[in-house]
Amino acid sequence: MGKIQLLSEHIANQIAAGEVVERPSSVVKELVENSVDAESTRIDVTIEEGGLQLIRVSDNGSGMALEDCELAFQRHATSKIATSKDLFSIRTLGFRGEALPSIASVSKLECVTSSTTDGLGRKVLIEGGTIRSVEETAASRGTEVTVRDLFYNTPARLKYMKTIQTELGHISDYLYRLALAHPGIAFSLKHNGNVLLQTLGNGDLLQVIAGIYGTAIGKQMLPLQVESLDYTISGFVAKPEMTRANRGGISTIVNGRYVRNFALNQALLQGYHTLLPINRFPVAVLQIGMDPSLVDVNVHPSKLEVRFSKEAELTALIEAEVKRLFGRQVLIPQGVKPAAPKGAYVQEQLDLARTLEPAPAPAPKQQSFTPTEMSIQNAGQQRESKAQSFAEAPPQIKEILTPYRSDSGKTSEVPAWTPRVESTKSTFTPAVSSPVRTQSTSSNAYAPPSGNPRSASIQQQRRTNEAFMDLLPATTDSETPKLPAFPRLDPIGQMHGTYLVAQNDEGLFLIDQHAAHERINYEYYYERFGNPAEASQELLVPITLEFTPSEAGLIADKLSLFEQAGVYMEAFGGNTFLVRAHPHWFPSGEEKGIVEEMCEWVLSEKKAVDIAKLREKAAIMCSCKASIKANQGLSVLEMETLIDRLASCRNPYTCPHGRPIVVSFTTYELEKMFKRVM
Ligand code: ADP
Ligand code: MG
Repeated sequence: MGKIQLLSEHIANQIAAGEVVERPSSVVKELVENSVDAESTRIDVTIEEGGLQLIRVSDNGSGMALEDCELAFQRHATSKIATSKDLFSIRTLGFRGEALPSIASVSKLECVTSSTTDGLGRKVLIEGGTIRSVEETAASRGTEVTVRDLFYNTPARLKYMKTIQTELGHISDYLYRLALAHPGIAFSLKHNGNVLLQTLGNGDLLQVIAGIYGTAIGKQMLPLQVESLDYTISGFVAKPEMTRANRGGISTIVNGRYVRNFALNQALLQGYHTLLPINRFPVAVLQIGMDPSLVDVNVHPSKLEVRFSKEAELTALIEAEVKRLFGRQVLIPQGVKPAAPKGAYVQEQLDLARTLEPAPAPAPKQQSFTPTEMSIQNAGQQRESKAQSFAEAPPQIKEILTPYRSDSGKTSEVPAWTPRVESTKSTFTPAVSSPVRTQSTSSNAYAPPSGNPRSASIQQQRRTNEAFMDLLPATTDSETPKLPAFPRLDPIGQMHGTYLVAQNDEGLFLIDQHAAHERINYEYYYERFGNPAEASQELLVPITLEFTPSEAGLIADKLSLFEQAGVYMEAFGGNTFLVRAHPHWFPSGEEKGIVEEMCEWVLSEKKAVDIAKLREKAAIMCSCKASIKANQGLSVLEMETLIDRLASCRNPYTCPHGRPIVVSFTTYELEKMFKRVM
């Protein structure tokens, strides 16, 4: 007696539903795609309780003929393909004829549709896959499908659902992609009566982008348009300074279908090349058009993944075009680079110069080194122009020299990294006021060790140095207890406005000035974030932040976390939040950017965030923004102060990202290089 039997259509549908209808957002996806395929120009989506209670999609599309609307709920019933040849030239979003029967098998579904303008239509009621009624009804042209009590008959699936916010997040995320893919369709999304998305349907992609990601990002997008024999690509890519902590802002759309494709994403990121900071991603919308025969969409039940037959050609086209776009963008004279907009992540100038403008050497105020010069400068020459360079120093550099705004006068608030010399609090004086330091800088920097007035302490210093040499350039974690003392170093110059060149009796040292400053600032801010509430100040003009609806939901859940970090935010209708207060010691001019980055970090980490991690991340963000960049000339006094402050850090050896701050060449190594010793 055989055991095999054909499954009933009902069970087959439920099995298919397991694949096609994974969660409420899959229902929204399938219904909305049907509306797009029906050539609708208006699609309204209404959701209750994350979609578990109700999903309604109504459109003004072609509608279904009376005889079709029952058939539509049978398995493998579709109007979109007829022969297997059609499978290789699919121009519609759907074609498998699975969605409606699958959804109907796990919910209570009502479909009202009309393909005419005579006001007559048909209503079908289906419960758990069984047709309950079919009747005539008044209806305008188009289709409205209402899905209630999703998964009511599949409790295992229901149990697997996440919070309402999470499910809503998936729904809105999908709907944005489709709105980006079809700017000519007016989409709306309502959840529990609140409008979360509304597009005009006037075909203006940039307006859709601004509606979803906020006007600030909308203003920072550059149009892109390119064609090859096989492909047309158009869309917008964000300037590199508008970055986000995750890839969620990248949408690749192929023939009107949002697809997730690693190779396309990579090509886009490669196009930005080193313009993007590590672990930062752009907002970008690429609409890619091609002959349907060049793409196989039948590789995944939800058709999110596709296969290209000429993938290499496509990715090369994207990469080259993005490169070309930014290559053109940065051809602005170096040195007068416009300030990045508030809140944007500021790219290190060095990277820009290195990747895109190889020719001009940076021209810091101090002499930069040319091949004909000795590559080490006499500190004495620089001292003469010291007073002048203070006056002209960019604000960030003055910050190194000035005790932090909030600290003046209050001993208890002097941060841990205060230089060892006593007179830190008087502006610009710390290094010079130390008798030892004055001596050393006024003596010839090239004087042999024996001529150095500090020779008395050399023995002791040497021991410190040896411990130090062992450490370089190994990286260490910021949480480790204070490391061996940093050696005393005398600056002798600056290379390419980026590295300090310093020496002591043991050898030659190169210090990455940005990394050093970042470390100093990081330790300062880390300490401050330990008790941020005290320093929170109410803003006269609150900062406005815009999010996508799904992000807004997540942020709303985390408001108390932000409060613990001293940032007081409140929802302000729609997807907008107001920052009412933040610690007054946030780097000035960067306040909005810091809060934005904190939000982005929280969004990207989702569940894993806690206050300790947020404090550390926020301290890194503040330190990065407050720090001098590469490519900036520093006076001797500025260099000395930087070294002093670095020396009093708990970990003066690595920047908060773990990169080394100092590298060294021992005198012995140098002598070996010059074959003075063998
Ligand atoms: P598929 O989209 O793969 O064809 P579905 O089960 O999603 O399969 O839909 C079955 C058929 O029902 C479609 O081929 C289409 O003819 C019809 N249909 C579904 N939704 C709509 C709609 N909103 N407007 C017009 N026709 C629709
Ligand atoms: Mg479909």
